[in-house]
Amino acid sequence: MALFTMKLENLEQLFLQELRDLYDAEDQITDALPKMIEAAHHPDLKDALQEHLDVTRTQIQRLDQIFTILGEDASGQTCKGMKGVIKEGDEIISQGGENATVDAGIISAAQRVEHYEMAGYGTVRTYAELLGQQQIASLLQQTLDEEKQADEKLTEIARSVNIEAKAA
Ligand code: FE
Ligand code: FE
Ligand code: ZN
Repeated sequence: MALFTMKLENLEQLFLQELRDLYDAEDQITDALPKMIEAAHHPDLKDALQEHLDVTRTQIQRLDQIFTILGEDASGQTCKGMKGVIKEGDEIISQGGENATVDAGIISAAQRVEHYEMAGYGTVRTYAELLGQQQIASLLQQTLDEEKQADEKLTEIARSVNIEAKAA
């Protein structure tokens, strides 16, 4: 039975569903990042995306750890939101064009990914605290901090890339 057909009866259930959604989102990101790295031109952008690919793999391990603590399965949920966000990034990459302008578009797409994740992780971190799952809350906080750092790094790179794009 697909999870979305189950009525939401309590916070534990919603918590688990949202964790599975994030697990699927991270899996999608792992698939999408190599294409973005390849399409990026600016070396700082390539490096930042590569670094975040490594970080994302750690985040998946952290979620695996959480599902083990909970004694639950990680699969069962598709993150449709992340599918759409990644699709928009794919469209920019397919369009191609002037280097800095394409890079600016990749940054724009990558920051949408980070913000979507930040919303999800902030929510489940708070649920974990409410449910008395301190260890899980701190694992989720670590990931939330990493997503914020990735977003800030992209903002920093955008400062020069956007100016180059404007000059093109
Ligand atoms: Fe992530
Ligand atoms: Fe989602
Ligand atoms: Zn991320």
